[in-house]
Amino acid sequence: MNYSAAMTTVRQKLADLNAPPKRLKNTVYEERDALCDRHGIFKQRCRRIALYGKEIETKTECPSCLTEKLSQLQQSEAEQKKRRKHHKIKMLMDDLHLPERFAGVTLDNYEPVTLDAARCLKLCNAYATHWPERLKRGGGLVMCGKPGTGKNHLALSIAKHVINEHVRRESCTTEVP
Ligand SMILES: [Zn+2]
Repeated sequence: MNYSAAMTTVRQKLADLNAPPKRLKNTVYEERDALCDRHGIFKQRCRRIALYGKEIETKTECPSCLTEKLSQLQQSEAEQKKRRKHHKIKMLMDDLHLPERFAGVTLDNYEPVTLDAARCLKLCNAYATHWPERLKRGGGLVMCGKPGTGKNHLALSIAKHVINEHVRRESCTTEVP
C-alpha cells in the first residue's frame, strides 16, 4: 500500500474543507448538517454537477473521520518503515553467513588476552562507532595476526554492530576455516 499517496488524498480533502468551495461550471453547492455515526453532526458540503443531462452528487466526509484516517495512515506508514528496517537488518545479517561458532560474537564479549589485543579491540570499537564517518571518508580496516587471535571475532562483531546500529551494506570478507 502506498501510504504517502493515500495521505496526500486525505490531506487534500481536509484542505478543501477549510477553503471556500471551488466555483465550477454547472455545479451547485449546498451546505447542510449531516450525521456521522461516530462524531455526530458535521457540516457537509453537497456538490451537484449537471453533466450530459444527468446530475452527479458528491458529498464531503466527516472532518473528524478524515483526521482520524490521516493519523491511522501515518501510524501504518511508520509501522511499515519499521518492518522494512527489520527486514533489511535480517537480510544483511543473513548475508554475513555467520558460521555457527561466531553466531554470538560481539565487541563486548571479545576477551583481549594481551595488551596488543586490548589495543585492537579499542580500535575496532572506535571503527564500529564511527562507521558512518569512516564510510564517507573511505578506507577500511586491515587486520593482521596469527590464527586464533580473534580476527574473525572482531571483524564479524564490527559487521554486526554496523548492521544493527547503522543499517547499511558493508562488505565483509572472512575466511572461514
Ligand atoms: Zn466522523
